[in-house]
Amino acid sequence: MNEQQPREPLTLVEGEPVAIRFSKWDGSPHWTYDGSYLGRDEHGDWVAVPVGAPLTRPGRSFDNEHHSVVCVPRQSGHVLTTNADPHKVRHYVDITTVPLWSRVDGVATVSMVDLDLDVVERRNGRIYVDDEDEFADHQVEFAYPPELVTSAEAEARRMLVLVETQAEPFATVAEAWLHRPTAGPAAP
Ligand SMILES: [Mg+2]
Repeated sequence: MNEQQPREPLTLVEGEPVAIRFSKWDGSPHWTYDGSYLGRDEHGDWVAVPVGAPLTRPGRSFDNEHHSVVCVPRQSGHVLTTNADPHKVRHYVDITTVPLWSRVDGVATVSMVDLDLDVVERRNGRIYVDDEDEFADHQVEFAYPPELVTSAEAEARRMLVLVETQAEPFATVAEAWLHRPTAGPAAP
């Protein structure tokens, strides 16, 4: 891992496996799971995570209960997950460092540091920023640089407004990707 790479797009092929790798600021692993590449639009690169996909982090793992899609933006510090109905959470935005794409043993891999804060839209309509307490704790524990704190807070506020106003991709685009027929499992 840690193949640092220039911040230029990989060539990604529809249906190819994608490894999604969150870490924490101290370099320890956080959520990791795999999906398959759907395509790209102005919001970023979209990855399908099927029902049954294992999602794991140290001390916790579960199998994805509802189909979801992940949008990885090219320039901003967040990762959006949109879940199929009837998941209680419609949109979940993890605030992160700007995601970096690389190939690790040939597998398209997107890596970012999870910065605790999340913007959540529940299916009952409630929209809020979550994990502000964890973010406050980690500013001390991980000694986040001040500019990182400022940019993560700004990104959380920006995403909150976009979700609240139902800007795209939150209104319809994410769910269009979610319901798009997939190319099926990539060939081994
Ligand atoms: Mg969080």
